Amino acid sequence: MLSARDLHFRYASGEFALAIPELIVKPGEALGIMGPSGAGKTTLLKLLTGILTPQRGTVQFGETSLSTLTETTRREFRLRRLGLVFQDFALLDYLSVEDNLLLPMRLSGGLTEDIQTKAQQVLERLEMMPHWKRLTSDLSQGERQRVAVARSLLHEPLAVFADEPTSSLDGARKDEVMALLTEDVKARNTALIVVTHDGEMQRWFDRVVDFKDLRA
Ligand code: ADP
Ligand code: MG
Repeated sequence: MLSARDLHFRYASGEFALAIPELIVKPGEALGIMGPSGAGKTTLLKLLTGILTPQRGTVQFGETSLSTLTETTRREFRLRRLGLVFQDFALLDYLSVEDNLLLPMRLSGGLTEDIQTKAQQVLERLEMMPHWKRLTSDLSQGERQRVAVARSLLHEPLAVFADEPTSSLDGARKDEVMALLTEDVKARNTALIVVTHDGEMQRWFDRVVDFKDLRA
């Protein structure tokens, strides 16, 4: 499903550098990558999703190698085929929950009735339907995080990358989000990659790797 090999990356400004010899995620696998704050987890997710470009190495999804795509087609691939839950949620604050979920597919012409139904089902599960018409800027951090998680799944991506997806949640809400993400990966035989510093999350994954063991 996903294979990354021999990744080398250094920020143009700053000292931080990352080398990852190999990371492979199989279809249907939920992988947890655990590491402390500042270790480079967000940087790794940005490399795996083509937001950042490594100075060396390859990231491949099935037959598609990110390095062979142009900037435009890589962006398109990310929007259409990958699901991302960003650490800062990356919501459009001046839009409603509904528009945050459906706008990407409205714009690309891919919005179907099935997707609208699925959006409501996912929000129902996350107990977010009462907020359907509200602006995301008026929501709590935990509510915003659940909108970001819901959005990552709607277009049926082949892999979902989630950056600390339960950081603003506790207890039952954390479980709801993790159950939703892990059920989706099993039901559709896709891949889920979650980075977190929360040790409590481990039970949700098929495989847990320590971030420092991934590094060269
Ligand atoms: P984590 O997600 O594990 O907390 P990050 O990947 O966000 O770690 O950051 C790893 C390191 O890279 C940190 O030292 C951070 O300061 C640095 N860093 C993050 N973004 C940038 C950037 N845009 N330019 C320079 N350095 C950065
Ligand atoms: Mg981070």
